[in-house]
Amino acid sequence: MGNKKYRCDCRCTKKRNKDVEDNPADNSSVKKRPVLKRACNEAGLMLKKQAEKIDSSNFMKHLRTINRHKKLVFIHCLKAGIPVQGLLHDLSKYSPSEFVYGIKYYSGERSPNEGEREDYGYSKAWMHHKGRNKHHFEYWTDYNLEAHKVMPVKMPLNYVIEMFCDRVAAGKVYKGSAYTDASPYEYFDKGRSRRTIHQETSDFLEKLLKMLAENGEKFTFAYIRDYRKKHKDY
Ligand SMILES: [Zn+2]
Repeated sequence: MGNKKYRCDCRCTKKRNKDVEDNPADNSSVKKRPVLKRACNEAGLMLKKQAEKIDSSNFMKHLRTINRHKKLVFIHCLKAGIPVQGLLHDLSKYSPSEFVYGIKYYSGERSPNEGEREDYGYSKAWMHHKGRNKHHFEYWTDYNLEAHKVMPVKMPLNYVIEMFCDRVAAGKVYKGSAYTDASPYEYFDKGRSRRTIHQETSDFLEKLLKMLAENGEKFTFAYIRDYRKKHKDY
């Protein structure tokens, strides 16, 4: 963003200089040039300053939020027995299609996607993200031949577990010191009516989140590791 060049729409620098050289008798161009040039320079500077303001204040904060989230998810995934998924988790957040909006709508308390939705009615960054990351239930939808409409699809076991790890990490980052083992379940419960998710996927995720709220992390991760050894599905 910092390297972006701001071009003035009136093309008052090169183009107008050329005009004056070609036609030295055209006094009106000579008189207008400094005023236009100054106005364009000022506009360019203003835009540059705005871009720098966004970069310097939010670039590092957003990068730190992603890194912190990824680190937490990786730790959870290690405990759950899916280290490779932990490493690859949310890598698309570093791509320009997601990172730029993350900087622009940075807020330490909620997802930047919320701010983008307020401005545009939808979030392009989120659509980019959910289309590439299989740990989001929103990825798992397809046209159903019997229902003749787009319906949720049952998620594979390892992605439900990654989703669990993701939700626990997100709760810790966004809730900070107010986080408890019950926070991820409370968030899940609050959003129940807004979610379009396959029923069996929802039930299994709910079971894990409830287990976390009632028995804590150590117990739940041990249960997940054991479950993965014995089952391929849920
Ligand atoms: Zn994600």
